[in-house]
Amino acid sequence: MKNIVYYLDKPSGQFTPVTEEIGEPAPGEIRVRTLRTSVCQSDVVIYRVGLPRIKKWPAIILHEVSCEVEAVGAGVEKFQVGDLVGLGCDIPCGDLDCIYCGTKGTGDWTCCPNTIATGHEFPGFARTHAILPDWFVKLGPIVKFDKGISADHACQLEPLACGLEGLTRVNNCIENRVVVLIGSGSQSTYALQCALAMGASKVILVNRGAERLDRVLRDFGNEKVIGLRWDEQIVQNVFAACKPFNEPHFIMVTAPCEAGYRLATQLMGYGTVLDGHAGVKGAGGKPKISHEVDLNNDIHYKLQCYQATHGSNMHGIGLAHKLLNGKRLPMIDKMTNATERFKAHQIKEAIDRAADPDSLKVIIEWD
Ligand SMILES: [Zn+2]
Ligand SMILES: [Zn+2]
Repeated sequence: MKNIVYYLDKPSGQFTPVTEEIGEPAPGEIRVRTLRTSVCQSDVVIYRVGLPRIKKWPAIILHEVSCEVEAVGAGVEKFQVGDLVGLGCDIPCGDLDCIYCGTKGTGDWTCCPNTIATGHEFPGFARTHAILPDWFVKLGPIVKFDKGISADHACQLEPLACGLEGLTRVNNCIENRVVVLIGSGSQSTYALQCALAMGASKVILVNRGAERLDRVLRDFGNEKVIGLRWDEQIVQNVFAACKPFNEPHFIMVTAPCEAGYRLATQLMGYGTVLDGHAGVKGAGGKPKISHEVDLNNDIHYKLQCYQATHGSNMHGIGLAHKLLNGKRLPMIDKMTNATERFKAHQIKEAIDRAADPDSLKVIIEWD
């Protein structure tokens, strides 16, 4: 049967559809039909400047995806034809004996020296169909959704999973506590919804630009959510907004810039967990951001914790699946408005829209 694959020839280049033959899945494999892809900020970077991890061009990008299972190979019992599935980006390395990714591994795929990701080393979902190898089906980040869950929601499994890894790596820092989110882009807006679903007592959103902050407050805010513009008074203003507490319990840096990390370190207080969620990288690579920590007074006596997560494994995928499948994120449709919906032949336009300072989640429809 026919598979339309949109190849990106080079960074800042063209997407060209190529019709290829795709066969039946072999034993252990499944064939899926792409329903939705959503655009990640990493897709914007990959499109514009490429990524050292992508060594082969033309490339098939896009990694946030929901699909329908179209055919299953012999021996596959986890999935059936017609299932709606969502997929993660970071995937096992494919070695069933790997101490991280294998059948008896820890599941920490992103720690594996041979770690791979969809839309990076593994072909992405800028294609109408894909055959997933047996190791992906067996161990990979692919989960099925109940009837009544939409393909729009299922394709947001991956970005949600990444945020949930950050929100849950340290226990007891969200429920009944004060959360500060630096930045108000899509990852921050997912974190806001998750933190509320997880019972945060207050969520303080910090952003430089008014446009997106206003949108997020209007569409996702309630009496527990406070928005603050990032100006010279921001440190005092965050501490004031934390009252009756003196400091935040959890700070997530979702703005991929050094200033975001600098601000976060100034907000550290008693028991604060800092999650470095957005990595900083540019054309010159990944800059060093140095910071001195007092291991005795700050870490030991103040119980501060500096941690990070990037990407997701089955822990985050499982949590994201639970929230989506249980309809615990009632505002999630507001992530995507009419200006953020595109068709398969508009991948370039979709990526451009995702780069706009007011946009949240761009979705590409494949069916
Ligand atoms: Zn992503
Ligand atoms: Zn591995």
